[in-house]
Order: sequence, then structure tokens, then C-alpha cells
Amino acid sequence: MKQLFINIKELLQVRDEPVEKLSGAEMKELPSLKNAWLLIENDKISDYGEMNSLPEINADKTINAEGKIILPSWCDSHTHIVYAGNREQEFADRINGLSYEEIAKRGGGILNSAKTLQETSEDEVYEQSAKRLEEVMKLGTGAVEIKSGYGLTEEGELKMLRVIKKLQQNYELPIKATFLGAHAIPKEYKEKPDAYLNLVIDQILPKVAEEKLAEYIDIFCEKGYFSVDDTHKLLSAATKFGLKPKIHVNQFNAIGGIQAGIEHDALSVDHLEVMRPEDIESLKGTNTMPVALPSCSLFLSIPYTPGREMLDAGLPLALATDFNPGSTPSGNMNLVVSLACIKMKMTPEEAINAATINGAYAMELSETHGSITKGKKANFILTKEIPSYTFLPYAFGTNSIESVFINGKMLE
Ligand SMILES: [Zn+2]
Repeated sequence: MKQLFINIKELLQVRDEPVEKLSGAEMKELPSLKNAWLLIENDKISDYGEMNSLPEINADKTINAEGKIILPSWCDSHTHIVYAGNREQEFADRINGLSYEEIAKRGGGILNSAKTLQETSEDEVYEQSAKRLEEVMKLGTGAVEIKSGYGLTEEGELKMLRVIKKLQQNYELPIKATFLGAHAIPKEYKEKPDAYLNLVIDQILPKVAEEKLAEYIDIFCEKGYFSVDDTHKLLSAATKFGLKPKIHVNQFNAIGGIQAGIEHDALSVDHLEVMRPEDIESLKGTNTMPVALPSCSLFLSIPYTPGREMLDAGLPLALATDFNPGSTPSGNMNLVVSLACIKMKMTPEEAINAATINGAYAMELSETHGSITKGKKANFILTKEIPSYTFLPYAFGTNSIESVFINGKMLE
């Protein structure tokens, strides 16, 4: 099946030479072709060029994209899409004056989601999660990472990871699974948090590895949750099972989580709302992708990751949603890109690079996703008629997407 798109106003993120990731000043460049054509063969990008060089192509279907832009679909490298129930009551509590930490102390927060998850059947969790996955695909997400972390028992964590596995089997977009058993200390372990970490390491982790339920390991390295020592301990154990680290660090406090991640060659370190100069320094020249989650900052009214500062220091940066019931009940990457421009002072070019190719890197998908490159998967967004790509982050409340293609197939 050959599909030919013609008269494309602008074909964005065109990379003849594939890149793994972009850093610092490289992120200012967003290569594109104006008045372009794009040929899709089955599930892959086959060829592209400018209209004045369009060869004779025998296509099964020709789509006129006049006035419209095509860009790679979003690569959302940090989500918690699999969960049960919602926490809109806590949202109201916060408006009435309680802080995120106070809500957590009252047994709300992550523990609240864990209780609901434990009480909900695997099929029901799947149904709820699949609905959210379909929602974000329609919003332009064409590759996604999903974490466990609301089970906090062996049964609960494995249930979540099996739901992720089922999503992987039933949907065409790539889904990467991360084991986040060390997301919070369950109530029963409040007085003996070490015992919980040991349970995660000695009992749950080997099962996750044995059933091949996750590629990545995650931990919430934060005051009141898990320490830097805990992080070292877990990452050492997980690396032995072949799970690469992608970890939650520097959300409320900078306690050395970034350095711990780098020491274990983390694929990514995520959140980074609180960054010390030495944290930026540590990330230089490493393989670790820093990931910012600006819609979490919006929802919690906490500082934004200092993206401008990090890019000016020469670092790479990826953008993701953090879609979860407590701190970011939104999986809208379009909003994330807007917030990066509005609140983090990233240019539209930098934000789009961060949400596509660098997001792909943070899921080890750079070879197949994140840019318009021959041979890559045909996962892309076709916009409505819009004046320019800057309109995407600028018109932050407008849905500028006309259709989304995954593996060359248009989403219904
Ligand atoms: Zn998260």
C-alpha cells in the first residue's frame, strides 16, 4: 500500500541523516521542506522531497495536504497512563488549601491510587487505561512509555505491568514498560521502609524480569520517599536483570538523584524542577537524557524545569507529559510543547525537537521514530490548515490536528 501526500505546506523535522538526539544549540534547528511531498509504503516512510522534484509515483492513494503541515508524532517518554479511578477530590482539596505533601501524609496521593488499583480487576484497569491511551493517540502521540507504581504490592505491580503488556499487544504504537515499584512507601511499611525496598528488590523485581514485563527501572528519589542510597541499591539490582534506569529526581528537592542516575548510566532523569549548578554540570557529556514535565508544574503550581538554562549550558532536553491521576491528569503533548515555549522560554523549534527526536531517544526509539527519515515508521501528525508551525504552541488551546497516522494507518 503506497500513500502519497502532496502539496504539503511544510514537512517538519526532516532528517536525511538520522540523529540519535540533539543537544544545546543543535536544538534551535528544525529542518524542513516547504511545498513538499511524502510517500508512505505500508508502515514506513519511503521517500519525500519538494513538489518541483516529484517523480512519477504509482500510489494507491493520493492525499492533498495543501495548507497543512506534517510532522512526526509526539514521543511521550514519561507517563503513568495505567491506573484506576481518578483523584479529582484531591484537586478540590488542594484548591481549598492543602499541599501535595499534606495530602500525601493524610494517606492521599500515590497511596490513594494504590488502594484503588489494588481493588480494581485487571480487566477493568485495562479498559480504563486503553481509553486514555486512545485519547493521547488522537492528540498526536505515536510512541509512549508507561510505568507501574500504583500497585505497591507484588500482585498490584504485576497486574499493572500485565495491563501494559496487553496494551503493547493490542495497539500499534510502540509502548515501553517501566517497573516503578519504588514509587512510594506503602502504609504497612511506614515504620520499616527498608523492608519495602527489600521486597521490591528481592521479590518483585526478579518476577518482573522473569516474565519480561519491563525494560526499564524507575524510583522516586525524593525526601520522604526513597533516598540516594536506596536509589543506588535498586539500580544496582535492576541493572543485573538488564533493566535500564529512567528515574524520578529533583522534583521537590535536589538530593543527588541525578548523580546516582548517571552513575548507573540512566537512559533518562526526569522532572528536574529543582536544579543546582552542579546538577547541570553532572549531566554534561553523559548518555543520560534530561526530561522535563511542564504540565506537572502547571497542575501543582511548582517551578518549571529550567529548560532555557539547561539548553544554554549545552545539554539535551526531552519533553513528556507525566500523565497520572495525582499531579498531571493530562496526556496532551500539544499542551506540553506550548508550556515549554511559554513557561520554559524554549523556542518552538527547540520544543518540537524535545517532544519528537529527544523523546524517542529517552525510549531508545531514535532509530525508528522521532523524525521524517527514510525507513522510519510512518508515525506522524497531519495538521489542519494553519499559518505556520509556530501556530502549534502559540494557539495553546486550539486543536490544530486533523489526523494522526500510526504505522501508516490513519486513526479512525
Ligand atoms: Zn512521573
